[in-house]
Amino acid sequence: MSVEQLLQLPDETATADFGARLASVLPEQAVIFLEGDLGAGKTTLVRALLRALGHQGAVRSPTYTLVEPYEIADRSLYHLDLYRLGSPEELEDIGIRDLLAQPCVLLIEWPERGAGVLPEPDLRLILTAAGAGRALTVRAATPLGGKLLKDAGVFS
Ligand code: ADP
Ligand code: MG
Repeated sequence: MSVEQLLQLPDETATADFGARLASVLPEQAVIFLEGDLGAGKTTLVRALLRALGHQGAVRSPTYTLVEPYEIADRSLYHLDLYRLGSPEELEDIGIRDLLAQPCVLLIEWPERGAGVLPEPDLRLILTAAGAGRALTVRAATPLGGKLLKDAGVFS
């Protein structure tokens, strides 16, 4: 199953709005890949999503820590940035097995770096430059991902 939609995000507010929209329909368990070059807006989107769920502290890019955990209103979310991952096997060192063994939401920047060890995503969010703004391709790869996009109003 694969359904895809292209959205225009003309400014940072549009990116943040999409993150908030996703937050409003997010289940307890989901795997979401965020793809796109440095500066594409992946962390901006995650930050808006976490804030919309009620997180009040900072949302730092886990560029060096690789993973940042969040407990928000009884749910577990993990924000991963695998840009500096040496090899997919290094995911074992940051405890990917434990993360996958519990109900949680994984928000993963640079998932390409973890290919073969990461599970298949429910949703892929692919950000590209479009003039001064961004274009966002959303692709649902599982029934859960499809439902999420439908609930978020991405598909009618
Ligand atoms: P990434 O995590 O993909 O490397 P960041 O979210 O850290 O990117 O940075 C993205 C930069 O682009 C930020 O400066 C942010 O203000 C800006 N930005 C985010 N979304 C948009 C958009 N839709 N249009 C223009 N600028 C954006
Ligand atoms: Mg980032």
